[in-house]
Amino acid sequence: MRVPVPPEEEAEAEASMQSTRPFSVLTQMSAVPTHAPEAVATDTPASKRPKKEWQIPKLLFKCKDVTHPGAVIYFAHSNTAALLRDAVVGVLESLYTYDTVPNTQRSVTLVLRDMDGIAYTTSSDLDVDHKEIHVSLRYLSTLSPTIAASEILGVIRHEMVHCFQYNAHNTCPGGLIEGIADWVRLQAGFTPPHWRRGGKRWDDGYQNTAYFLEWLEQRFGKGIVARVNGLLGKGKYKVGMWEEVCSGCGVEALWEEYRKLYGIGGP
Ligand SMILES: [Zn+2]
Repeated sequence: MRVPVPPEEEAEAEASMQSTRPFSVLTQMSAVPTHAPEAVATDTPASKRPKKEWQIPKLLFKCKDVTHPGAVIYFAHSNTAALLRDAVVGVLESLYTYDTVPNTQRSVTLVLRDMDGIAYTTSSDLDVDHKEIHVSLRYLSTLSPTIAASEILGVIRHEMVHCFQYNAHNTCPGGLIEGIADWVRLQAGFTPPHWRRGGKRWDDGYQNTAYFLEWLEQRFGKGIVARVNGLLGKGKYKVGMWEEVCSGCGVEALWEEYRKLYGIGGP
């Protein structure tokens, strides 16, 4: 999603694929479990065991112009409460377990307003535990009825990742941050019709990195991206972390294997 850099200091910059601006994502050294594991007798039938649930932050919504053509399209194709709740749960299920999920986000506000670009995520004026997802009404007004529902879900799922993902204290390559966000969107099935495998590098970002991450999970098993995100919550970014999660294989060699397999990018 190409959008201009928003004015807010911590706003995620998505104007370029290789943004150098910091991302407003989590920087904690360690995640705090939301739910302590509960003692469960092993002879208790699964159906009788207490059900764990993700802790959902307060979800809020603001539409700055309800008569805007983009707002009309949004309201015709969206159920805001379900959309936001499902986005939180989808992101947490993709990147965390009940025992690793950070319990720091207190609220997420979806703001629809007339602006350039598509969307961005930022922290509120209060503090970093209150996130705001801003989506452009102007962009929403361009959506055709056939893709509007999926595109709205996909854009918000992508942005919701930025509310919860780690960024290795702002040392994570921006392309990986964006790639993880689009990978979660890809897993959810909200894939825009124009998305294709491609890219010159593994960290080109967005769907290029997302498809590469998807392939890594096919090659090494589910949970690779969640483990990468976990390592990004433990300190600064290190290229060696890929070997840690990919059975000793380096990310550059894996990209070579991937691009040859699909005949994309490279020299
Ligand atoms: Zn993004």
